[in-house]
Amino acid sequence: MTRRCLLACSLVFPLLFATSAGAQSTRDPVALAKEGAAALDDRRFGDALESFTAASAIAPRDPSLCTGAGLAAFMLGRDTDAQAWFEKALKLNPRYRGASEWLGQVHYRAGRLNEAIEVYEAALKQAPGASEIEAQLGEWKKEASRQSRSYEARGAHFAVRFEGPGDELLARRAVERLESEYWRIGQALTAYPPNPITVVLYTQQQFRDITRMPSWTAAAYDGRIHVPMRGALEQTQELDRVLGHEFVHAVVAMLGGRNVPVWLNEGLATILERGGAEESDRVLAATRARPALQLLHGSFAGLSDADAQVAYALSAHAVGRMIALRSPSAVVTLLQDLARGTAFAASFHQNIGMRYDDFQTMIARD
Ligand SMILES: [Zn+2]
Repeated sequence: MTRRCLLACSLVFPLLFATSAGAQSTRDPVALAKEGAAALDDRRFGDALESFTAASAIAPRDPSLCTGAGLAAFMLGRDTDAQAWFEKALKLNPRYRGASEWLGQVHYRAGRLNEAIEVYEAALKQAPGASEIEAQLGEWKKEASRQSRSYEARGAHFAVRFEGPGDELLARRAVERLESEYWRIGQALTAYPPNPITVVLYTQQQFRDITRMPSWTAAAYDGRIHVPMRGALEQTQELDRVLGHEFVHAVVAMLGGRNVPVWLNEGLATILERGGAEESDRVLAATRARPALQLLHGSFAGLSDADAQVAYALSAHAVGRMIALRSPSAVVTLLQDLARGTAFAASFHQNIGMRYDDFQTMIARD
C-alpha cells in the first residue's frame, strides 16, 4: 500500500565562508566563523548560532556572518530571528545571494508567497540571469497565479485552499476533520500550534507535477500541508489518518525546529495516526529488515516503495519504544531540547534515560 507522506526538508548548506589561515584566538571573527561553519556541517545548529552571533558582534559589517547565524536560527525553527539575520545581511550587501535565497525560503515556508517572490525579484535585479533564482521565481509565480484562482475554507486553526467551487464540500470536511485532529493530537502531545496552518488540496496529477514527490507519497509537509485528494480520502477514516499525520509534522516543527531526525518525526506522525501503530507492527512482522536508525536521520525521499514502508514502520516502532520507556511528554521535551540546539544523542540520553547507541541496538533486535 502506498500511502506515506514526505517531509520536504532536505536542505543543502552552501559553502558560505572562505576560510583563511592564521586565525588564532576564539575571539577572532575568522576563527569563530570557521567554528560556526564546522558546526553547520555537523548539524550542531545551537553551536553554530553561538559562533556566528559572537563573530558578528566583533565584525558587524560582514554579511556572511549574519547569513550563517540566520541559517542556524532557521534550522532551530526560530524563523523570526532567521528573517532578521538575513535582512541584516542584505542591508549590508544587497547582492549577497545566500541571504536572498534563504530569506525567500523563510517567507515561502511560512506561507508568505508574495514576500518570497519580492525577495527573489530583488535578488534577480542584483544578479540578472541567475538561473536558479529565475527558475524558482517562475515556480512561485505559477503558484501565486494558482492561488489567486483558489478558494479558501477556514477553521479556528487551519486555512484549507482548494481549486474549484466543486471541491468546497470536501474542503469544509477537511477543515472539520483537522480541527478534531488538532484537539486529539494536541492532547496526546500537550502541544497546540498557536498560528493557523495552511493546507493545500490538489488533484492527484497536480500534486505529482507541483511537488515532484516520489510515487509513494500520500501527502507532504513543508511549513504547509499538501494533500492530493484521491478517491480514498473521501472516506472519513483515511482523511483523518492523512490529515492527522501531517498535522503532527506541524507540531514537531513548532516544538523541535528543522533538525529533528526524520525517523523521529515520521515515527511520531505514524504512531499518532489512527491505526498507525498496528499497521507498523504488521509491516515489521512480515520482514527481517531493520535499517539502523542512524541511517534514517535524513530524508526518506530516495527510498523505494518497499524500503519506505519498512522505514516508516520501524520509525513508528522506535517512537513507541521511547514512549514506553518514558512518556509522550519526554519525547516532547526531547524535541524542545533539539530546538535549543542540544545534540540529538545527548538529548535522547537525557530525556529517554538510555544511550542512543544502546537504543539503536535494542531496536535492531526487536
Ligand atoms: Zn510524514
